[in-house]
Amino acid sequence: MRKLLVAGNWKMNKIGQDARDLFQALNREAMSLPANVDVMIAPPALYLKWFTNDSTAKITVGAQDVSHRDEAEGAYTGEISAAMLQAAGVDYAIVGHSERRTYHGETDELIRKKIAACLSAGIAPIYCCGEVLAERESGRHIEVVRNQVQTALKDFSANDLAKLVVAYEPVWAIGTGKTASSEQAQEMHAEIRTLIGELLGQDFADKVRILYGGSCKPSNAASIFSQPDVDGGLIGGASLVANDFIAIIHAGA
Ligand code: PEP
Repeated sequence: MRKLLVAGNWKMNKIGQDARDLFQALNREAMSLPANVDVMIAPPALYLKWFTNDSTAKITVGAQDVSHRDEAEGAYTGEISAAMLQAAGVDYAIVGHSERRTYHGETDELIRKKIAACLSAGIAPIYCCGEVLAERESGRHIEVVRNQVQTALKDFSANDLAKLVVAYEPVWAIGTGKTASSEQAQEMHAEIRTLIGELLGQDFADKVRILYGGSCKPSNAASIFSQPDVDGGLIGGASLVANDFIAIIHAGA
C-alpha cells in the first residue's frame, strides 16, 4: 500500500511575513492531518531554512529546484547544490517542472543530472513529466511522457531510485484551471507505472509514488486521488491558500 503524498509548490509567491503566516497556518493543522498522507511544501529557496529550523514544524520541506552539478560546492553563481539542501534539512526537491523546462530551457538530460545530484545527497527527487497540449491533441502524449521518463531514469538502478517520486503534470493543465479528467490521469499513471516496471522491476514500480499535478483543487482532488495509480498530488495555485491546501490533503484520506 503506497502512502499518499500531497506536495505544495509555492513557486515565486509569498513575500516575507506572508510566507511565515501561510506556513504557520498549515502547521497549526498538521496535528490533525490524516495519517495516510505525507505532506510537503516547497517554498521559495530563501525560506527553506526558516521552515526547517522551526522546531514546531510537522510539515516536510522541499526545494523547488536544485543544481544539476554533483559537487557540493563550486564556482556556479546562483546555484544551490543538493548537498546544501540536505545540510539545510530539506527532504525533497522538485526537478524538471514544466516552468523550468519552458523558461530555463531544461532538457531531459539535464533533469537526469538533477535526479543524480539529489540521489547522491540523499534528497528525494520529485521528477515532473508531462505533455503539452499539441502533443495530447495529436495523440502522442503517451509516447512523449514515456520518452521523458525513459531518459530521466536511464542507467539508475531500483536501489539508486529508492527515494524517487514521479509527478505527472500535463503542461496544458498547469495553472490553467483545466484539469485532466480522473480517467486521463489514471491512464497516464498506469502507463508510467508499467514503464517503470519494465525499466526497474515490478517490485519497484509497485512502490513508487506517482503524483498528479495540474489545477488540482478541493473540488476535484478526491476523484483524482481515488484512482488506483494516483498517489497524491503536486499542487501549485491551491497550495497558496491554507484552507484549500488542507482540504486537498484531506481529500486523500
Ligand atoms: C504546478 O505548478 O506544479 C501545478 C500543478 O500548478 P497548478 O496546481 O497551479 O496547476
